[in-house]
Amino acid sequence: MYRINNHYEPETVSQAISMLHQNSSLVVIAGGTDVLIKMHGGNLQDVDILSLRSIGGLDRIEKTKDGTMHIGPMATFSQINQSALMQEYIPVLANAAITMGGPQIRNTATIGGNVCNGATSADSASTLFALNARLYLESIEGTRIVPIEDFYMGPGKVDLKPDELLIDIQVEAKDYEGFCGKYIKFTVRNAMDIATLGVAAVCRVDSSGIIEDLRIGLGVAGPTPRRCHEAEDYAIGKEVNQETLQGIGERAVLAAQARTSWRASKEYREHLVKTLSQRAIEEALAEVGGAGC
Ligand SMILES: Cc1cc2nc3c(=O)[nH]c(=O)nc-3n(C[C@H](O)[C@H](O)[C@H](O)COP(=O)(O)OP(=O)(O)OC[C@H]3O[C@@H](n4cnc5c(N)ncnc54)[C@H](O)[C@@H]3O)c2cc1C
Repeated sequence: MYRINNHYEPETVSQAISMLHQNSSLVVIAGGTDVLIKMHGGNLQDVDILSLRSIGGLDRIEKTKDGTMHIGPMATFSQINQSALMQEYIPVLANAAITMGGPQIRNTATIGGNVCNGATSADSASTLFALNARLYLESIEGTRIVPIEDFYMGPGKVDLKPDELLIDIQVEAKDYEGFCGKYIKFTVRNAMDIATLGVAAVCRVDSSGIIEDLRIGLGVAGPTPRRCHEAEDYAIGKEVNQETLQGIGERAVLAAQARTSWRASKEYREHLVKTLSQRAIEEALAEVGGAGC
C-alpha cells in the first residue's frame, strides 16, 4: 500500500538540499496529505522520501522590521488560521485557511504543500495571488525568488526544480498594509469539499470610497490560479458603487478562462466569477465598516 524504500529526515535546510542535489528522485513530503493519498492510490510507489518535519523553524510565521510577513512552508492551515500575526495583519489569509479541509487535515496539511502541488483548487492560492506573495526557493545553487503568479505553469505543474525546496513565502508590507480582503470558497455542499470556485479580493479604498488598489485572485476558474488584471486596472480610481462592481465582475470573467468539467459548466463558472468577485469586494469592505480600509 505505502511502498516506501527509504525515509530521510534531515534537520536543516542545507542538509535537505544537499540530499536533494545528490538524489533528485527523492520525494519531498511535508504534511503528506497529498503525497500519501497518491501512494495509497498506487500513483507513487517504491519511493525514497525526504521529510521536512525535523527541520526546525520552517513553520514560523513572523513579521520582520520592514513589515514583510514571512510564512514558513511547514506552517499548517491551523497554525495560519490561529496565528495572532495573521489575524491582525493579514486576516484574509487567516480566514482562507479555515475554509480548507476539516480539522484533521488543517492540523497536518501545510501551506508549502498546498502551493507546491500545483492544484488550481488550492485554498491558499487565490489569496496568495491577491497578496502578491513571493516564493523563496532554495537549492545548492542559492535562492531563487519567484512571484506566485509566475510559479504555476499548468495543472499540477509548478516552477520547482527537482533539487529545490520552498523555504519561505513572503508578503511585503506594501501588499497588505491598509488593505482589506475576503476569500470566498464556493462549494457544492457545506461540508468538507473542494472549491468549485475560489475568489480572493484585497482592496484599498480611501475614506471617500474611491478604489486606490484592487487585486483579485481566482482558483478553479481555469487550469491554474490566476489574477484578474483587466478588472483590477478598470477599478482603480473609481468609486465603489453598483456600476463599478458590475464592471469589475464582467472583466473578471475575461481572466477566468473558465472550462466545462464534471464539477461545473463553463457558463456556470463564469456566472460564479462575475458574481463572487463583486461579492468578495463588498464583503471585504463590509468587514471594515464600509469605505476606508
Ligand atoms: C481529505 C482531504 C481534504 C482536502 N481538502 C482540501 C481543501 O479543502 N482545500 C485544499 O486546498 N486542499 C485540500 N486537500 C489537499 C491537501 O491537503 C493540500 O493540498 C495540502 O495543503 C497539502 O499539504 P501537505 O503538507 O500535506 O503536502 P504534501 O502531501 O506533503 O506535499 C504536496 C506536494 O508538495 C511538495 N512539497 C511540500 N512541501 C514542499 C516544500 N517545502 N518544498 C518543495 N516541495 C514541497 C511535495 O513534494 C508534494 O509534491 C485535501 C486533502 C485531503 C486528503
